[in-house]
Amino acid sequence: MSLFYPCYRFRRIWEIAPEWFTVHQISVVLLDVDNTLTTHDNPEVPDEARRWIAQMQKAGIKLLILSNNRPERVEPFARKLGLGCIANAAKPLTRGVRRAGERLGVQKREMALIGDQIFTDILCGNLAGIVSILVEPMELERFLFFKLKRAAERVVLRRDRRKEL
Ligand SMILES: [Mg+2]
Repeated sequence: MSLFYPCYRFRRIWEIAPEWFTVHQISVVLLDVDNTLTTHDNPEVPDEARRWIAQMQKAGIKLLILSNNRPERVEPFARKLGLGCIANAAKPLTRGVRRAGERLGVQKREMALIGDQIFTDILCGNLAGIVSILVEPMELERFLFFKLKRAAERVVLRRDRRKEL
């Protein structure tokens, strides 16, 4: 069960101060897109996300987008932010994390992954052996499949009260 537990939890990605990563000796952060940086399939970037990315870069933290969504969705979004990206990442499979580490030349212990889904993002981070950070989804999905996933996530999170912030 512990593979489903995030190492840390926050409400929004932009509520995590760059210093937090420095204190935890994290130099590379892999970012989910949908419902983490913006709402699902939204090409616009919220101002808060833009500001947070600029602050992170100023603090010397490298960012890379790691998304399961299609390249047509992910690449223009990453370009808008001036970030590198890996689309079709197939999280929870860990190959995207490995590729990101190779691309940026960093060890796993310096990496974190942030996302809004336990069964893709958090499981991926935990399987890869990097720091996993769960944020609340920016908007709840309407599709039945997602509703079922969110219900299952609530069961996991109820068991994991330890690290609530
Ligand atoms: Mg997501």
